[in-house]
Amino acid sequence: MTETKPMIDGHLLEMAIEFHGHKCPAMPLGIRVGLAAMNALGVERAKNKELYCLCETGPTHAGMCFGDGVQVATGCTFGKANIKGLGYGKLAITLIDVRSKKAVRVTLNPEFQKVA
Ligand SMILES: [Zn+2]
Repeated sequence: MTETKPMIDGHLLEMAIEFHGHKCPAMPLGIRVGLAAMNALGVERAKNKELYCLCETGPTHAGMCFGDGVQVATGCTFGKANIKGLGYGKLAITLIDVRSKKAVRVTLNPEFQKVA
């Protein structure tokens, strides 16, 4: 029997639900975008200020839910001052590896956003 790997590690999802306070669609999207950005950069979750995140979401409900998923996945948090909300109203981030000075911008597929 083939076992499929979950898209988001169960522990990370539980941690995110605990942090965010409820289950919703946008928060896990933030986790996935954060993980994709970390994977592209080849970096681990920030324990301190190894990463810096520019989060393009706006003040809409879904936008803020997305931002919580990004914080949990990347370790870039408002408490560590290594995430900045840009308020563009886009479900997208730019993640910067502070040491290597490499960065990647990750967004949802625009086609998905049309049908969602
Ligand atoms: Zn939510």
